[in-house]
Amino acid sequence: MYLGHHTGWKLPKISELTGVEAVEADDWCDEHLVPESACIECQKDLVPKPKPFGFCKEHGVAECVIHHPELAQSTGKLRLPAYDTVAAIGLRSRPENNSRNTMHTNRVQFASAESMAKAGVDVDVVQQRPMREAVSANGELLFDPTRVAHLSARASGTIAAVFKTIGDQVSTGEILALVDASQVGQAKSQFLQATVLKQLRATTVERLRSLGSGGVVPQKTVIEAESALQEAEVALISARQALANLGFTVPEGLENKKPEAIADDLRFLGIPPSITASLPASTHTANLIPIRAPFDGTLIATEVVAGEVVDSSTLLFTVSDPTRMWLILNVRQEDAADIRLGLPVRFETDNGNRHVTGHLDWISPAVDPQTRTLQVRVRIANTDGSLRDNTFGTGLIILREEARAIVVPREAVQSTPDASFIFVRDKNFFSESSPKFFHVRQVRLGASDGPYVELLAGVLPGEVIAAKGSNVLLAQLLRSNLGAGCGCHE
Ligand SMILES: [Zn+2]
Ligand SMILES: [Zn+2]
Repeated sequence: MYLGHHTGWKLPKISELTGVEAVEADDWCDEHLVPESACIECQKDLVPKPKPFGFCKEHGVAECVIHHPELAQSTGKLRLPAYDTVAAIGLRSRPENNSRNTMHTNRVQFASAESMAKAGVDVDVVQQRPMREAVSANGELLFDPTRVAHLSARASGTIAAVFKTIGDQVSTGEILALVDASQVGQAKSQFLQATVLKQLRATTVERLRSLGSGGVVPQKTVIEAESALQEAEVALISARQALANLGFTVPEGLENKKPEAIADDLRFLGIPPSITASLPASTHTANLIPIRAPFDGTLIATEVVAGEVVDSSTLLFTVSDPTRMWLILNVRQEDAADIRLGLPVRFETDNGNRHVTGHLDWISPAVDPQTRTLQVRVRIANTDGSLRDNTFGTGLIILREEARAIVVPREAVQSTPDASFIFVRDKNFFSESSPKFFHVRQVRLGASDGPYVELLAGVLPGEVIAAKGSNVLLAQLLRSNLGAGCGCHE
């Protein structure tokens, strides 16, 4: 082993070298670790460098092989990227190459193919495969909170009857329980009194008016009676409102019935006969107030038993509509700039049992100062009701999916503080007389997936690159560049 990264920066002993033993001791390039007479970096005429094209602003690489496919080191048919790599580069912030970095102008040469293999360098071919670029975020499935209702009684009392229990399906307006609340009886009674009083006073006014036309009744008496009637009407309005506040709707025209009939109608106001018929006689009071389901859904919590004393702050039932859920994801602040409404989302529950899909339909305008995350939401249909409330998992917000992304093994990419590189094998590597060397290319990193990383610029499909052991090439490149050329030291 003789390369820079193994020996530090010390000169290799010629006797240790394999494959170059025949070389004269004085024919050795210490800078490039190949025989001086064959060193393509020192003997400029051996393999002349092509005319430089400069830095590609669109792709952010020097000597852009996408814009100048003639640079490709491929013996087969040229294949350009099957997708818009400029658009993909612009999709989010990515590592950039310093346009003043000149390391790509060097080439990394081996004395022979054998010495390259001995150094542990292996090659791979630039491939095309499906890749997905996504922002990952932790999150939670919840029942749509706009479709979750926590129900309590509108008046204090005793639970008279409970008709539904946890897990039951309920429909809009369905009665879940009855509360015996004295406030209800009082309100009904006030309504009855106000009605009777108004009926009485109305009769009086009618009678006085009919007498008044004959001049028998003083005008003052008529006015007083009319004013008393008005008072009674106001009292009736307020009694009707008191019932409305308890959730009761008084049928129109009820106040025109006879008092006995009104009392009968009021007794089980708002409660259908099917329910009252099922009640034991002891609960046949006029105090009953129903607890109703506000929408179609499922009872997900019940906190009551018959006979329990409750007030208006006691939670009696929770109804939710489990067919509608929200997926709330907490996007890291650094990813916030990459996401937008409408992006597809895939969510997998922590136990791996389920995955659901949807689209981003809300993005919080503010980052949570505690967690430094941004909340986003996806509405999820849960038609079969199989998803559970408060299910944790991981969501992927898909930024981009490519069927034929250009990929290399992750180990093929090497980076310095101001640029990323790949080493492309010269296309004439196997012709016998050709020097064995690699071209240095700046690349732009895209998506990554397991052992693969996407390169959005810098290589074309079919090119051969140093994969395993590419760090050996970087070490040699840095070694020969010491003190010269690399933009990071400027
Ligand atoms: Zn040299
Ligand atoms: Zn370009």
